Amino acid sequence: MSIDELQKIVDDWIKKYGVRYFDVKTNMIVLTEEIGEMARVIARQFGEQSKKEDETLSLSEEIADVLWVLTCIANQTGINLTDAIQKNIEKKTNRDNKRHIQNKKLNL
Ligand SMILES: [Mg+2]
Repeated sequence: MSIDELQKIVDDWIKKYGVRYFDVKTNMIVLTEEIGEMARVIARQFGEQSKKEDETLSLSEEIADVLWVLTCIANQTGINLTDAIQKNIEKKTNRDNKRHIQNKKLNL
């Protein structure tokens, strides 16, 4: 699935099942919740916290939740994610094309 297709699938789903998008501020709060759920999985799975007995952890599910809400926010604010990501990669490449290679902390 391309990023364009993702945006279309999310938009179609919202129109069919979601009635309408939550307003942007609500979706920002939902995004924060979902990032918190992702952080909880990482803390348990890769960090030093232990899993609770009845807890099921799925990093892929939580990342997909984050991506879903991000896509909702992009859709409702008129952002084409493909264009935004391409521009962002260009920015990072122009800005950081030597920075990490020259970072001695990364080349131990
Ligand atoms: Mg979640």
